Amino acid sequence: MESIASNIEAIREQINAACREAGRDPASVRLIAVSKTKPAELVREAFDAGQIEFGESYVQEFLDKYDDPLLDQCPIEWHFIGHLQSNKVRSIIGKVSLIHGIDKLSTAEELSKRAVQHNLHVDYLLEVNTSGETSKYGMSPDGVLSEAAALFHLPNITLRGLMTIASYDSVAARREFRQLRELLDSLRVIAPDPSKLTELSMGMSGDFEAAIHEGATMIRVGSAIFSWR
Ligand SMILES: *Cc1c(COP(=O)(O)O)cnc(C)c1O
Repeated sequence: MESIASNIEAIREQINAACREAGRDPASVRLIAVSKTKPAELVREAFDAGQIEFGESYVQEFLDKYDDPLLDQCPIEWHFIGHLQSNKVRSIIGKVSLIHGIDKLSTAEELSKRAVQHNLHVDYLLEVNTSGETSKYGMSPDGVLSEAAALFHLPNITLRGLMTIASYDSVAARREFRQLRELLDSLRVIAPDPSKLTELSMGMSGDFEAAIHEGATMIRVGSAIFSWR
């Protein structure tokens, strides 16, 4: 019988198996359940099955779920994984534990400004366009390295790592995951505090095992949890 709980259990087993093969500790990979377009009832069902971290892509939809009476008493850790425009920063600040989709210095500057205003500290990831597909958001790998010095000095926000959405093709995806890991290594070399740069958000329903082999610390899984048949 398929249910959200059994889907989560099956994915956890796949994570464990991939970690075993890769010689990694399963505790080093966090499963983020991507609940975009799914109603609060299904988020609650996943939460009741033990899932704590959820990813949302659209600001208004996230805010509706954040305030939903079904969820507002649940200690959920929300991740914002969508493309974040500067003018939307202030509506989500303080409500999410990590922002994955920053892809411009100007958006990071806005995030920093708002964090200072609210006297908050915000962790974020840079979205990198590893595939080179023009339809995808994200900074180029070279852009990440050239903007890094400016990003590291913004107050009240901390760059924790990198995020990417890989190509559909599995061979290309594996190469892009490796490229993201190598880019994080390069970034660590120039970072004032490399110990903060630990996160690789990569891998989705179709490719998370390959991402784990290449070092993913967070996988973002939607359809394999919330949809079936
Ligand atoms: C929708 C989405 C996912 C989840 O994709 P699935 O293939 O459904 O697992 C992961 N990351 C981002 C950024 C997304 O928008």
